[in-house]
Amino acid sequence: FILWSPFIQVFKKHRYPWIQLAGHQGNFHAGDAGSVLKRLDPREQACFKKLMSDSLKDFVPEYRGDVDKNGETFIQLQDLLCDFTSPCVMDVKMGVRTYLEDELHKARRSPTLRKDMYQKMVEIDSTAPTTEEHEQKAVTKPRYMQWRDEMSSSVELGFRLEGIKKSDGNSSKDFKKIKTRESIVDILRSFVGGNENIVAKYIRRLKDIMATQEASEFFTSHEVIGSSLLFVHDAEEKVSVWMIDFGKTEPLPKGITVNHRNQWQEGNHEDGYLFGLDNLVSIFEEVHTS
Ligand code: ATP
Ligand code: MG
Ligand code: MG
Repeated sequence: FILWSPFIQVFKKHRYPWIQLAGHQGNFHAGDAGSVLKRLDPREQACFKKLMSDSLKDFVPEYRGDVDKNGETFIQLQDLLCDFTSPCVMDVKMGVRTYLEDELHKARRSPTLRKDMYQKMVEIDSTAPTTEEHEQKAVTKPRYMQWRDEMSSSVELGFRLEGIKKSDGNSSKDFKKIKTRESIVDILRSFVGGNENIVAKYIRRLKDIMATQEASEFFTSHEVIGSSLLFVHDAEEKVSVWMIDFGKTEPLPKGITVNHRNQWQEGNHEDGYLFGLDNLVSIFEEVHTS
């Protein structure tokens, strides 16, 4: 049993431990009623500003401006959990890679060696680093992230599970090596507690998101990296999914277009987001029929 709750949220006389499945705890604080504060990142703030007048508006948390707190600036976002009762929550990171093309270029121009990332790599698989990396006891950041993408389902399926918290309090972030369709089917079935109505509602919502993304001005003009779909449901069969985390979502360079489904080759900026969403829908459909 692990609790990832950085604070107690208060909303309409309800008090509940807020659930944070990813990111550093200090990045989030309680905001005004029904809102959370996330540490401001200019790239993410720019995305939320555009999203508020995009067709995707209903599929992202509402952006409620900026707030200064203890000398730092936060963006204020709609708390997606506040209409649920003891919700089950799942964070799924979308796309075939989790680093921007730009990060790759920077690391090539001036590689910084990361001892912390080498340590994390060795803890998970001591045979993963190359001879040179073992000698340096360090790896570059894109190298570490590429390795994480390959070890998980990101490269093959275009998404990976980041964290799950069920209503019984059971929770896990231990999905780093979850790679196969079969293992994901099992995890999703357990996440929905075998409830077919909930599965059907998730599938409908994912298809709505996909159709809206395919026509969205924002979505077709951005490289969407490291962004997640946040799944939330409760025992009353209230079910929803939202797009969150735009810290690594960037406007495409002039003249470049992507369809989010083509294979990524350096320079084409494809992120595999819709390739992943196609797979996610088909895996949920398998949960529904099996
Ligand atoms: P990372 O980049 O490591 O994924 P981050 O600091 O960018 O982390 P997010 O991924 O945006 O943070 O959010 C972290 C977690 O906080 C999510 O997994 C989710 O559990 C929760 N969360 C984020 N935004 C909201 C929201 N608007 N409403 C409810 N929960 C949220
Ligand atoms: Mg995230
Ligand atoms: Mg992020």
